[in-house]
Amino acid sequence: MRYQPHEFYLKRCIELSRMARAGGNTPFGALLTDEDGSILLEQGNIEITENICTGHAETALAARASHIYSKEFLWKCTLYTTAEPCAMCSGAIYWANIGRVVYAMTEKRLLELTGSDEQNPTFDLPCRDVFARGQKDIRVIGPFPALEQEAAEVHKGFWNH
Ligand SMILES: [Zn+2]
Repeated sequence: MRYQPHEFYLKRCIELSRMARAGGNTPFGALLTDEDGSILLEQGNIEITENICTGHAETALAARASHIYSKEFLWKCTLYTTAEPCAMCSGAIYWANIGRVVYAMTEKRLLELTGSDEQNPTFDLPCRDVFARGQKDIRVIGPFPALEQEAAEVHKGFWNH
């Protein structure tokens, strides 16, 4: 597969976030591509249905990826996600050794959406800050303001705050 524009993969993540919500979870979606842009794995949030507190889409995806692929391989992969990864997910991406992250919506924007909702008391900590304190040069691309609205749309009416 030829590498598609980032927007192509982010739109698919938004679709995955829609599916996660429809399936009873919080509206987050992520996917992993190889260096040629082929989609290897897709993952929605599984926190609620699996009753797993670490079931954020990106952390679940990083865990699955590490079962299947080597760290060397994952370093050349990209994780796409609807919202900027939280501190936990940034950690999971770091430990999985995924070399690049692309997100649509900033965590700050997400925080505005979720507020202090008990299900998602969002951090106010950019993933670039988390990665900057590590020992790997993980590249981060985002936000994509043109897609932020579409990503936020899936959250409409979900959070109580
Ligand atoms: Zn997270």
